[in-house]
Amino acid sequence: MKYQAYSQISFKKTPYYLNMSETLRNEFDVLTKVLPFKINNYVAEHLINWENLPDDPIYQLIFPRKDMISAFDFKTLSGMIKDGASALEMDMVSNMVQQKIWPAVALDEDRIPKCNGDIIPGLYHTFPTNLYLFPAPAVKTCHAVCNYCFRWIHHTRGKFLPETSYSDPATPIAFLRDNPHIKDIFMTGADPLVMTTSQVKKFTDPLINVESLDVIRFITKSLTYWPFRFTTDKDADELLDYFRYLKTQGKHVAIMAHITHVNELQTDVVKEAIRRIQETGAVIRCQAPIVKNINDSAQDWTELWDTQVQLGMFPYHMFVEADTDPNGCFQIPLAKTVAVFQEARKKATSIARAVRGPTFMNNNMRVEILSIEEINNEKFFVLKCLQALDDKHEGKIRLYPFDPEITQIENLRSVFE
Ligand code: SF4
Repeated sequence: MKYQAYSQISFKKTPYYLNMSETLRNEFDVLTKVLPFKINNYVAEHLINWENLPDDPIYQLIFPRKDMISAFDFKTLSGMIKDGASALEMDMVSNMVQQKIWPAVALDEDRIPKCNGDIIPGLYHTFPTNLYLFPAPAVKTCHAVCNYCFRWIHHTRGKFLPETSYSDPATPIAFLRDNPHIKDIFMTGADPLVMTTSQVKKFTDPLINVESLDVIRFITKSLTYWPFRFTTDKDADELLDYFRYLKTQGKHVAIMAHITHVNELQTDVVKEAIRRIQETGAVIRCQAPIVKNINDSAQDWTELWDTQVQLGMFPYHMFVEADTDPNGCFQIPLAKTVAVFQEARKKATSIARAVRGPTFMNNNMRVEILSIEEINNEKFFVLKCLQALDDKHEGKIRLYPFDPEITQIENLRSVFE
């Protein structure tokens, strides 16, 4: 299959759009004035059941949702489209609406490494052993765009790129040499596997000689959004050979596959892609957030984990959806998240029970919600700190007062002090 991406403009010429109901077409027209949209021919042809709109989970994952903007803004934009507002007027109002829903991304400036007082762009040092890398060609886009993703600011705002990515592949090396406790590199972006294989090599090669590095992780959704990246793309074989090469250099290669719903794992080509990656010795670990209307039932997760295990992959983390969306239309209450996780794990194959979750991170602390317990007639979330900036928090367990409605626990540092 030859890759064909559709933007909000080109998608409107496809039969998929033309066969959508008038209501859904109108929603699409209004919402894509404000929100990013990108889909490709594989996702459209093989992952979405167009007879099942709007409930289809992959449709829910990719298409902007009406409740992402206020009812007032939706009505205003809809009216302007009907009245034939000029492009200039439309842009003005769209920008205003976009500002209102700007994702609240909590970047901790202290986690951006510095050299002689200047930040080193494109590096993010979360926990002592982990360093995230943002190579410039990887931050611009993905093979399709998830509607809940806060990284759309990278995709849509060019001025954000220079500060948060790097173009010289040698950029992280001095910092890594000065910090030999860093063992895990997270190649990320948007999606590092939108890069060509020669770009992947260019940005990864300098890391090979850093002996303290044990693990190179690629955080990607390419496996299910464009599995041909690992099968028939012209540089697919070269990419797989490169994974083999990294192994010979003593590095563990981990494909951190972002897989949201079991429907992403049904096609022959995705199974072939998984098999080909596994043949290289790379290990595929699977993770995703739990998101309203996509994967918010126990059955969704049991099926997802069981299928991952059948295909030889490792269920790794169920994440609590981040609270970057000001209207909260993707988050579900933590109480329900815990119930879904526990129920799903009970029904899944025993091997899948090594999965961690529900986990979330803020203030540079990663926490797992172990359970909800009642003590002296009072209910609590039981939290375990999985990773933290300093040793004294890691492994600690704390109680947090139960609230059936909360979707996040803010300020974990104060909880664990
Ligand atoms: S694939 Fe990942 S980075 Fe890309 S839009 Fe989806 S969540 Fe965001």
